[in-house]
Amino acid sequence: MNVLTMQDVRKSFGSLEVLKGISLTVGEGEAVSVIGPSGSGKSTLLKLLMRFWDTDLGRVEISGENIKGINTASLRAAESFVEQDTVLFHDSIEENVKIANRNATHEQVVAACRKASIHDFIMTLPQGYDTSVGELGDTLSGGERQRLGLARAFLHDAPLMLLDEPTSNLDSLNEAVILKSLHEQCAGKTVVLVSHRASTMRIADTVYSVEHGRMS
Ligand code: ADP
Ligand code: MG
Repeated sequence: MNVLTMQDVRKSFGSLEVLKGISLTVGEGEAVSVIGPSGSGKSTLLKLLMRFWDTDLGRVEISGENIKGINTASLRAAESFVEQDTVLFHDSIEENVKIANRNATHEQVVAACRKASIHDFIMTLPQGYDTSVGELGDTLSGGERQRLGLARAFLHDAPLMLLDEPTSNLDSLNEAVILKSLHEQCAGKTVVLVSHRASTMRIADTVYSVEHGRMS
């Protein structure tokens, strides 16, 4: 059975037609990369798969079921989403990662952070995992935030991984490390990775590109 299906999906914001008929099928355990320029609708596509919004026209199905019929808790349990910009809360690093899995142990949080290559950095902080994000203010770099976002996804460990530009804030060396880790952690999972960077195609079985609201 196909795990993810989009059938002629359309989505506009006001008069702006962003997606003009997107069809996409991702099989179980398949990793798909969607490449396209900034503004082409890649984040919108992922948000439709998360049902942040409904489509204007067309269908989104998960394991053969219309996404509109899946309750929010089941959908969240099935999907790990790494947002383009990681939002952190005024709480400790530990709690910020644990929002992905409230029942996780400290050891599981550490394991997820190691996979996201952010553990060593956290250990340099004054109170390690107990350091408050608020105290750090704006000192966390875009790359550090992004790796915390990935740690959340690794902790959540859902069968569907939706990744929005997961390496956009990393230099090429860090990117290579994270892509290797993603490849390992996503083995057996169904993955949709969107990016404007061609380098992320490396971990994909199939690559699509989206431009002017259409997929090729
Ligand atoms: P990408 O991720 O490929 O850069 P997006 O999906 O973020 O593209 O955005 C595609 C287009 O839709 C852009 O022109 C953007 O300004 C517009 N857009 C995205 N989200 C919204 C929104 N919530 N309201 C209005 N316009 C939006
Ligand atoms: Mg985007």
